[in-house]
Amino acid sequence: MQAAERVLVTGAGGFIGHHLVTYLVRTGHWVRGVDIKRPEYQPTSAQQFEVLDLRESDNCHKAMRGMDEVYALAANMGGIGFIETHKAEIVRDNTLINLQTIEAARLNGVKRFLFTSSACVYPAYRQKTPDVAPLREEDAYPADAEDGYGWEKLYMERVCEHYRSDYGLETRVVRFHNIYGPFGTYDGGREKSPAAICRKVAMAADVDTIEVWGDGRQTRSYCYIDDCVEGIHRLMRTEYREPLNLGTDRLVSINDLVDIVARIAGKAIRKQYDLTKPQGVRGRNSDNTKLRQVMGWEPATPLEQGLAITYDWISNELRKQGRLTAREDPAAINP
Ligand code: NAD
Repeated sequence: MQAAERVLVTGAGGFIGHHLVTYLVRTGHWVRGVDIKRPEYQPTSAQQFEVLDLRESDNCHKAMRGMDEVYALAANMGGIGFIETHKAEIVRDNTLINLQTIEAARLNGVKRFLFTSSACVYPAYRQKTPDVAPLREEDAYPADAEDGYGWEKLYMERVCEHYRSDYGLETRVVRFHNIYGPFGTYDGGREKSPAAICRKVAMAADVDTIEVWGDGRQTRSYCYIDDCVEGIHRLMRTEYREPLNLGTDRLVSINDLVDIVARIAGKAIRKQYDLTKPQGVRGRNSDNTKLRQVMGWEPATPLEQGLAITYDWISNELRKQGRLTAREDPAAINP
């Protein structure tokens, strides 16, 4: 690697941003982290961390001073329960954050700018069955993105393209597919399915029933956080400028996910389906053909391995907070 670039990570107080900072510092970069809040579960390893609200243009300029590269992760977001019920707040906040962040990057002479988009940009009409065809990058058009969060991401992808062609700012765009791992939100309403399921299984006793959103047959693919941060860094280093999927292509149903976590926990778990809860698209998978071509690499952590680490971390957090009794957590009493 060349001498330490000075790198800004926005959203460095959040799940992926926090891990990305750790990765970049470990690989020799000088990192400034910025977020509206500090990381919740572990101190940052960034050389500098500033608490700034990036909806304000002045703060975007402050964040950008002296930076060579920017990883733009800051966003008001959450799992399907959150994004389906906070559409105005999400599009307002993320439009302000993203436009002002890229404009400040341009005006402050940043060389490379990576924007974190989402599989939510893909059209609903391609995600109607559980055994869905994996989504290729070009499938995003004709557009019919998730209405709110997804449309804002798709719009910002276009903004990146225009800033590159009109102003010469080197932009990179990554589309994440369900990133999971330790230090991610696991309760409070913004959590996503792997973390929510780990929490529910940890808080259940053997042979208890947990609530599953929808009929459990909806499908997704899941990518472990260590693969995610390595992938983002690799993409920043390539000359590939179009949006690129970052995920795995192993399709599993929510029922499968519950069964895997139950096996990890060593509990027989029963499922009760709540069809009134949001469940998002019926099926979604990542086509990694282009990812392999561009990077000669793809995420490799097996789901069982990543979930075991995630389950351990979440159950430990719950234990520390005194939220598990001997009924759910006999190991704590008889280790
Ligand atoms: P996260 O919510 O943990 O992190 C986002 C961070 O942005 C939070 O720490 C939040 O405080 C910060 N933020 C929000 N508003 C801000 C503001 N006004 N000013 C400064 N900071 C602000 O989410 P994450 O999972 O780490 O996601 C990181 C990025 O990746 C986001 O852009 C998200 O949309 C995208 N993404 C994530 C996933 C996933 O599976 N986790 C999937 C698709 C896309």
